[in-house]
Amino acid sequence: MKNYDVIIVGGGPAGLICAETLAKSDMSILLLEKNEVFGQKVCGGGLTRKDLALLDIPEEIIEFKVNKTAVISKKRRSGADAPEPFLFMVDRVDLGTWQRNRLDGTHVEVRNNSKVTSITIDKVVVNNTEEYGYKYLVGTDGYFSVVRKHLGLPQEKRLAGIQYMIPAETVDPRLYIFLNSKRFHSWYGWQFPHRNSYSIGCCADPRIVPPQKLKKDFHLWLKENNIDVSNAKYLAFPISYDYRGLKFGNVFLAGEAAGMASGFTGEGIYQSLVSGKTVAETILDPTYRSKEMEDVLKYNRIQEKVMNFLVKSGPFKGAIHEAIVGMLNNKLIKAKIHMSFS
Ligand SMILES: Cc1cc2nc3c(=O)[nH]c(=O)nc-3n(C[C@H](O)[C@H](O)[C@H](O)COP(=O)(O)OP(=O)(O)OC[C@H]3O[C@@H](n4cnc5c(N)ncnc54)[C@H](O)[C@@H]3O)c2cc1C
Repeated sequence: MKNYDVIIVGGGPAGLICAETLAKSDMSILLLEKNEVFGQKVCGGGLTRKDLALLDIPEEIIEFKVNKTAVISKKRRSGADAPEPFLFMVDRVDLGTWQRNRLDGTHVEVRNNSKVTSITIDKVVVNNTEEYGYKYLVGTDGYFSVVRKHLGLPQEKRLAGIQYMIPAETVDPRLYIFLNSKRFHSWYGWQFPHRNSYSIGCCADPRIVPPQKLKKDFHLWLKENNIDVSNAKYLAFPISYDYRGLKFGNVFLAGEAAGMASGFTGEGIYQSLVSGKTVAETILDPTYRSKEMEDVLKYNRIQEKVMNFLVKSGPFKGAIHEAIVGMLNNKLIKAKIHMSFS
C-alpha cells in the first residue's frame, strides 16, 4: 500500500485549489477524482469578482462578462447597467480542466476515474480495490461526500437546485432574477447567459418546499413565460449549507462537503475555493487564520438570515418582493449600487 501525506478526495473547485496550494510544500499529495473529466457538475456557472481575485482565470474561459441585470417581480421590473461587469459566466468543465491543468508540472499525483469507495482511520479504498494510506485526509467531494459520512456528520440544511441549459443561437447578455413567491417561494429564479445557451433555474430548501412541488411550480412558471425547454435537459442537484467546521483531527472538509454554500442564493464556488485554500494552509501551518474564510462564514450567515426572514414572512413575501424591486428603481439606491462597482 502506497502512503501519502495528504489525500484529497474530489477534484471540484475546492479540491483543485487545495491541491494547488499544497503543491508549494514538499508533502506527498494524491488527488482522487471519480469522473474521467474534471468539472462535470450541475451548476449555473456564475462567478463573481471575488472568485476572479482568487483564481487568475484566463479570458478565453470566460463566456460572458455580465454588467446588465433585470430583476422582475410579479408587478414590477428593474433594469440596471453597472459600469463594470460583476458576474463572469463559465462552463464548469472548462473551469475544471483549467484548474486541473494547473497541477501539471507540480508533484501532486492526480488520478481521475478513481472513486473513493470506503475510508478507515488511516487509509482510503479506491474503486473497491486499491488502498492508499494517509496522514491527512481532505474531503472535497461535494454534496454526497464519503469523507463527511466517514466523520458521521449529518447533512440537514440543504437546497434542491434545478435547472435547464437551453440551447440558443443568440444570447441575451443580461442576468435575470425572478422574484415570484407563488412559483419560487422564498428563493428566486435565474437566467444566466452562456456562450450558446442559457441556464434557467431555481432552488429551495426541500424541508420548506418539497422538491416535487418546486419542480411543478418551476414548470408552471416556464409555461407562463413561454419558455420552451423541449430541446434542453432537466438537471437537478442538491446544495449543502450545513456547515459544521473544516477540521476534525487529521480529517478536513472543504467546499460543499463542508456545507459551505449559501442557503439563499445557492452559490458555492467562491466558498469552495476559500475553504479549499484555507484547509491547505491549515495543514501547512496549524496556526493559520483566514480572514477570507471568516468573511465567507459571515456572508453565509447573513444569507441564511435573509432566507429565514423571507420564509417567516409567509403571505407578505410577495409584498416584500415588490418593495425590493421598487427600491432597486430608486435613483439614489441605483447610484449607490453603481458606485460599489466603480
Ligand atoms: C443548479 C445549481 C446551480 C448552481 N449555480 C451556481 C453558480 O452559478 N455559482 C456558484 O458559485 N455556485 C453555483 N452552484 C453551487 C456550486 O455548483 C457548488 O457549490 C460547487 O460546485 C461546490 O464545489 P466543490 O468543489 O465543493 O464540490 P463539487 O463541485 O461538487 O466537486 C466535487 C468533486 O468530487 C468528486 N467526487 C464525489 N465523490 C467522490 C468520490 N467518492 N471519490 C472521488 N471523487 C468524488 C465529484 O465528481 C466532483 O468532481 C450551483 C449549484 C446547483 C445545484
